[in-house]
Amino acid sequence: MSKAILTDITKCIGCLECVKVCKNTYGLEYDVPRTWQKNDGLSAQNWTAVLQKPGKKYIRKQCRHCLEPACVTVCPVGALHKTAEGAVMYDSDKCLGCRYCMMACPYGIPRYDWDKPVPYIRKCIMCYPKIKNGEQPACTAACPTEATIFGERDALIAEAHKRIKETPGKYIDKVWGEHEIGGTSVLYLSDIDLGFLSYQPHLGNTPLPNRTEPAMKAVPIAFAGMGGLMYGLNWIIRRRMDKQGKKENEE
Ligand code: SF4
Ligand code: SF4
Ligand code: SF4
Repeated sequence: MSKAILTDITKCIGCLECVKVCKNTYGLEYDVPRTWQKNDGLSAQNWTAVLQKPGKKYIRKQCRHCLEPACVTVCPVGALHKTAEGAVMYDSDKCLGCRYCMMACPYGIPRYDWDKPVPYIRKCIMCYPKIKNGEQPACTAACPTEATIFGERDALIAEAHKRIKETPGKYIDKVWGEHEIGGTSVLYLSDIDLGFLSYQPHLGNTPLPNRTEPAMKAVPIAFAGMGGLMYGLNWIIRRRMDKQGKKENEE
C-alpha cells in the first residue's frame, strides 16, 4: 500500500522541529541561501522548510512525491524513480547533472548541490529507508502537534475529508494533492489557498507526464547521443575523483 504524509496547516505552530530533525537525520549542513534561488528556504542542504504567511500561518514545504512525477519522466538516464511505498527516489550514480528535473517539477523542489565539486540533485526522500523498515519519517515523528502525520494514502485522504466535514468553515473544502496532476503522496489540509506552493495556482488534474512525455520523445536522437556522452564524461570524472580521494586517504 502506498504511504503518504498529511500536513494540516491549521495545526502547525512553526516550531521547525520537522526541519531540524530532517537535517540531523541526514547530516545536512546549515547553509546560506543563494540569492538566485527561490526564496522558500529549500536548498541542497534543506529538504523541508516552513514558510510563513500573514495571520501566523505556517506551511511546510517538501517534495510532494507525485504519483506520476514529471521529474521521473524527464530524466534521460532514469536517475529518479517512484517506489511502491510512495517515495520518489534519486540515484546520484546515474545522474548526469542536466537539471531537467528541476525545470520539470511543478512545485520547484529539486535543488542542485552548487558547493560540491561533483554536484548532485537533492530533495526530500520521504525517509525511504525508514518507511521500508516499517517506521515513519523523522519529521512526522518529531512534530509536537501532529500537524504533519504519516500513514496509508487512502486513510489519510479519508481522515482529511472527515476533518473538513466535522468542522464546517474551518478548512477550504479541498485536500491538496488528492487529485492535482494525478495526485501526490504529500497531502495538505488548509484554511488558506495553497496555490503559491506550485508554479501555477491551479495545476489541473492531468498528470504532467502526459504532457512532458511527448516533448521528451521529440528530443532529437543527436541530443540523446549527447546525453550518453555527458554521462560517460561524468562517470570518468567521478571515478578519477574517487581514486584521488582513496590516494589521499592512503597518504
Ligand atoms: S514534487 Fe517535483 S521533485 Fe517531487 S516527485 Fe513531484 S515532480 Fe518530482
Ligand atoms: S520525510 Fe524525511 S527526508 Fe523528507 S522532510 Fe521529512 S525527515 Fe526530511
Ligand atoms: S514540527 Fe509540526 S508544528 Fe513544528 S513546524 Fe513542523 S509541521 Fe509545524
